[in-house]
Amino acid sequence: MAKETGAISWKELSLGTAILEPGSSSKLKTGDWRSMKPVTDRECCIKCGMCYIFCPDMVYSRDDEGYYVQNYYYCKGCGICAHECPKDCISMVEEGSNG
Ligand code: SF4
Ligand code: SF4
Repeated sequence: MAKETGAISWKELSLGTAILEPGSSSKLKTGDWRSMKPVTDRECCIKCGMCYIFCPDMVYSRDDEGYYVQNYYYCKGCGICAHECPKDCISMVEEGSNG
């Protein structure tokens, strides 16, 4: 069972760390070790969705205006979305900065 921090004890892991429940990683805070985070400049975003498609952690979702927004709870800061954005609208900024 995941604790509030998203961290679990090794004693709670299944034998061989087998995944016994589909989609169970959604309960874990996979972004807590991130050092960089992606920040989108909406002025240049064309709402193409490439960031959503390429993000390996399904961090992006679409807001009411059609922009793709990050859920930093899951973002691990890999930078793939920034690399794939065709308009270079996504900047990787240091975690904790105001970026
Ligand atoms: S890939 Fe870039 S241009 Fe496309 S929706 Fe994402 S931020 Fe906007
Ligand atoms: S930095 Fe990586 S994990 Fe975070 S939103 Fe971009 S592609 Fe997804």
